[in-house]
Amino acid sequence: MAMRQRLLGASDSPDLDVALLLCHCLGKPRSYLYTWPEREVETAQAQQFLSLLDRRVAGEPIAHILGERDFWSLPLAVSPLTLIPRPDTECLVERALAMLTSRAKPQILDLGTGTGAIALALASERADALVLASDFSAEVVSLAEQNRMALGLTNVRLVCSNWFAAIPAQGFSLIVSNPPYIDAQDPHLSEGDVRFEPASALVAANDGMADLLSIIREAPAYLLSGGELLLEHGYQQGELVRQALIERGFVDVASQADYGGNERISWG
Ligand code: GLN
Repeated sequence: MAMRQRLLGASDSPDLDVALLLCHCLGKPRSYLYTWPEREVETAQAQQFLSLLDRRVAGEPIAHILGERDFWSLPLAVSPLTLIPRPDTECLVERALAMLTSRAKPQILDLGTGTGAIALALASERADALVLASDFSAEVVSLAEQNRMALGLTNVRLVCSNWFAAIPAQGFSLIVSNPPYIDAQDPHLSEGDVRFEPASALVAANDGMADLLSIIREAPAYLLSGGELLLEHGYQQGELVRQALIERGFVDVASQADYGGNERISWG
């Protein structure tokens, strides 16, 4: 298909991209393509499809073009103001759920929630949990609130806060965060979808460690005794994060790899 050829330079998954854009224009789920009887589109749909394809060829992320990305089976509205939720972050959700199995009515804090992905996934799995999710941007908080309402989750509260600045010291059972952790000089920042994502969600000072370290430093004051902190980080930051957790008095410190085999989350 010629359209597929046009996408080869811009995308690692040209077939999937064509299918997603086409279904978006047809207003149908992806499964429809397998049974699509007439294999025809109206002129307006074809024009819309071609203009979306142009945007994708220019590098714009599929999630921005569609305004949506699935995370943990939850459809989430996304915007250029937030990180696009990544499948790798589902490892953090899995780990968090495992950490919470022995806790009834856990109080959870998600710092820098963006679309709300982690907070909403945890709240959808644990109806008994109370989740507080924060972001420093009021616009991002309202996007996460829109996602919360669309999913009908009543056990999540959103708050505008620069990390811990406006968080009540109520004592959380679990604090989770996927903070920015990429060094400003990292060549990864000039490739693919990340070029269209906000630097505030990606880049941190001190070789990408600044926000991770400040969360580790402040978290104990907000945790119940025996409470846990769980962080996503870069694949080469595991050792530094474990060391910082141990220095701050955390015990049972450990890390785990993501689906790509890179050390991606640590906790204590
Ligand atoms: N893992 C993301 C990436 O490599 C970055 C996410 C983050 O900075 N929190 O693009």
